[in-house]
Amino acid sequence: MTKPIWIKHAAQLATLASDVKGPRSKEAMSDLGIIEDGSLWIEDGIIQAVGTTKELEKHYSKRGDEAEIVNAMNHLVTPGLVDPHTHVVYGGSREHEFEMRLQGAAYMDIMNAGGGIHATTRMTREATEDELFEQTIRRLDSFLAHGVTTVEGKSGYGMNLETELKQLRVMKRLQEQHMIDIVPTFMGAHAVPPDFKEREDEFVDYLIRDMLPVIAEEKLAEFNDVFCEKGVYTPEQAERILEAGKHFGLIPKIHADEIESYGGAELAAKIGAISAEHLLKASEAGIQAMAKSGTIACLLPATALYLREQAAQGRKMIDEGVAVAISTDCNPGSSPTTSMPLVMNLACISMRLTPAESLTAATYNAACAINRQEQVGSLEVGKLADIVLWNTKSYQELQYLFGVNHVKSVWKKGVKVV
Ligand SMILES: [Zn+2]
Repeated sequence: MTKPIWIKHAAQLATLASDVKGPRSKEAMSDLGIIEDGSLWIEDGIIQAVGTTKELEKHYSKRGDEAEIVNAMNHLVTPGLVDPHTHVVYGGSREHEFEMRLQGAAYMDIMNAGGGIHATTRMTREATEDELFEQTIRRLDSFLAHGVTTVEGKSGYGMNLETELKQLRVMKRLQEQHMIDIVPTFMGAHAVPPDFKEREDEFVDYLIRDMLPVIAEEKLAEFNDVFCEKGVYTPEQAERILEAGKHFGLIPKIHADEIESYGGAELAAKIGAISAEHLLKASEAGIQAMAKSGTIACLLPATALYLREQAAQGRKMIDEGVAVAISTDCNPGSSPTTSMPLVMNLACISMRLTPAESLTAATYNAACAINRQEQVGSLEVGKLADIVLWNTKSYQELQYLFGVNHVKSVWKKGVKVV
């Protein structure tokens, strides 16, 4: 039995608690449920009480001696950040491509020349399960150091059954052995493997026939994702893959409209995807369709910056009623970062989200995008004690002082990990 933890005197305790259940948009994204001079009582990794320091003192003073007391010294306390879109399990590294792109090579040109996703796929196929496990631990430690306590992780650097299974098994092992929670997504259709070039439909058949049943049988994934993009998979092929996944209980996600407007947002709304990712070039009709269907826009402003592209229209999407989440997109080619605080800054700077909206997008809405809103994403009684104490006085200051890691302490399920 571990000691209870009593956090006191948070200048702002941003609980993210709200009457709005499910993904938030419009004004609901600005309501952070802030308690001034806030306090939390944690026992057995679960939040047992939330209120002002005064209120909790009334109930818990008698038990004060048995708890480990944390004085937040008038700093900001928030839920642990949630990263709902990562490709965190991969082999190798691609810093040489960074230089190529700076000299003018386009992302798709590099990929078509056998680099990009194909290079990582080769290196991931060659890596042993233990090597992938060790490489990923370093990145997950870095996520924790940046206040991230839950991440989604995608396969997709195998594009054959053997390696897709290897990546997903690594995630399963990490879920068992690392403090961070890792939520697995199968993304067999991350690119067209070179041996299936010009035969995309055959790869789709192979994925549906030979990969999905095994992934489902071993319960290795909760979500099913596909790269729907001109030159990769058409909306029709994406729909086949995602509908087939539904039969195996896999919830659809889509990498949509990243490079060209291609009907990805519309498809996400049509098939009831939980989220659509990237959306840099989403059409007006696509945005309206997502607002109607309740599909979450998972926006990746660090990727846009890294590829020197205009970020997605986050401001417009929120105003139109789309629930927005944000993510690092942590991957070796287009966003090798684990810094969700930086992504929150960029959501403000390059997509004009307000500081409050940006925090909602990185906590509660991000949890909704991976179906974890009942466990994490807000500080409420009964939820996991995933908590960040920041070195700033307020969430406004956190978003304002950009590019710096302001994390002071992180608790995962009530265990101090930073
Ligand atoms: Zn991605």
